[in-house]
Amino acid sequence: NPNKVLEFRVVPYDDDNLMFLIRDVTRLTQIEKMRKDFVANVSHELKTPLTVINGYLEMLPENGDLPAPVMKKAISEMRSQSIRMQSLIEELLVLSRIEASTERAFEKMVNVPRLLWQIHAEAEALNRERSHKIFFDISPILYVYGIESELRSAFSNIIFNAIKYTPNHGVIEVRWSLEGEQAKFSVRDNGDGIEAEHIDRLTERFYRIDKARSRTTGGSGLGLSIVKHVLSHHNSRLVIKSDVGKGSNFSCRFSAELSLLIDQKTKTLAD
Ligand code: ADP
Repeated sequence: NPNKVLEFRVVPYDDDNLMFLIRDVTRLTQIEKMRKDFVANVSHELKTPLTVINGYLEMLPENGDLPAPVMKKAISEMRSQSIRMQSLIEELLVLSRIEASTERAFEKMVNVPRLLWQIHAEAEALNRERSHKIFFDISPILYVYGIESELRSAFSNIIFNAIKYTPNHGVIEVRWSLEGEQAKFSVRDNGDGIEAEHIDRLTERFYRIDKARSRTTGGSGLGLSIVKHVLSHHNSRLVIKSDVGKGSNFSCRFSAELSLLIDQKTKTLAD
């Protein structure tokens, strides 16, 4: 296997003999590379907005009286870059908190329909500039056990991605339904689709297909990595299906014992 990394060592065995040790360090080497890549990525992502801010700051004192429009542009640009850094740091904190926790998240029964309608309101706001048709088809009686804040960030990441990456005037369908004995969350869009080679890598930290485009939409490449960890906490996993030129479908299921069907009349009790 050309990808295997082996470490060879010769150590004394006894007075007369030496011992030849071979250790497979493939996994260790991969982890070390991932750690180095992560540090390099974080540094790069933080350096880029700082360079812009410093550029404007350097310009300001030298030209004490800048024309108002230039001043306005400088302030608005510095503000958006600092918001970008702030949201990156927040995402990193969320990711490290979620990654560090190995426990399964069966804390509380989460009212997923209510959660999705809250995200719906935010999605409509985000959609104002994009003018997609967004449909929400939500089973009102399906709840799951889990951590509400984590599920919120997973569901909203997937929905907001569909809005961000589908060209204007697209169609996006968000579904929360009972499939067999499982609760299924799915988001379908009719955007450009994703080529097969990228699909398996989308949940890697900082992985973006088109860095420049994703950056203009405010993306850091951490969203789907957060989704992956949240879902694994909830005994679920992300399934991505995509047809280039036709669109993508992101879905996940929650195990039957974790979902609960509640009669409408008793819903308030569980609320
Ligand atoms: P980002 O912060 O860049 O949005 P994510 O981890 O959420 O990062 O997504 C990783 C990449 O996956 C995005 O940069 C984008 O290229 C791609 N992607 C995610 N969702 C979609 C989608 N619905 N359609 C097309 N591409 C998508």
